[in-house]
Amino acid sequence: MDTIVVASANKHKIEEIAKVTESLGFHVISRDEAGVPTDFEIQEDGKTFEENSYIKAKAIMDKCGRPTIADDSGLMVEALGGAPGVYSARFAGEDHNDKRNNEKLIDLLAHIPYKERRAKFVAVITLLFPDGRKIVARGECPGHIIEKEEGTNGFGYDPLFVPEGYGSTFGMLSPEVKNDISHRARALKLLAEKMKDLNQDVNIPEEN
Ligand code: IMP
Repeated sequence: MDTIVVASANKHKIEEIAKVTESLGFHVISRDEAGVPTDFEIQEDGKTFEENSYIKAKAIMDKCGRPTIADDSGLMVEALGGAPGVYSARFAGEDHNDKRNNEKLIDLLAHIPYKERRAKFVAVITLLFPDGRKIVARGECPGHIIEKEEGTNGFGYDPLFVPEGYGSTFGMLSPEVKNDISHRARALKLLAEKMKDLNQDVNIPEEN
């Protein structure tokens, strides 16, 4: 079975990716298991989710010489011209955390009516192979930002984000619902489709 390295150290992400890739015949290991030093830091200075996920995948692949997968995600708010975007994690500046990021978002949108609070979560997954092959899968989940935090499930901007077609925030919805409609879930579904094509293209044997 071919092995793919996940550029993230986040166990939850590794499990989510493994679910998709293992069913397609690719075993997944973490960057630690691939021997990448824990203090190896990657400068995520891309301007788009595509650039950042590529930067991460390329840096780890160059270190370990194996196929590598990386993701990048964030929130884009229409009334803020797409911010916080690739800066979602560090939106509140030096002392950022989920609470401060959410407070900043609430403040910036304070006088904006609900109709104009359209936003979307975006996730981009990039899979690179040492022979130069590349697969990019983007998933989006549209919705609205509400005025104050509701719900304690999830993380990040979840308590402020109401996905389209629902009356509750990601912070209130069950993980099962979120995992079905989220940007990451959609990107992973697309990744699975593209990986099936990849298997056909290069005719990778089932067993080796
Ligand atoms: P990363 O791709 O894990 O680095 O995520 C970047 C940032 O985007 C996170 O720190 C969160 O602020 C935000 N974000 C990404 N995905 C989600 C989500 O599913 N819920 C809430 N916030 C998210």
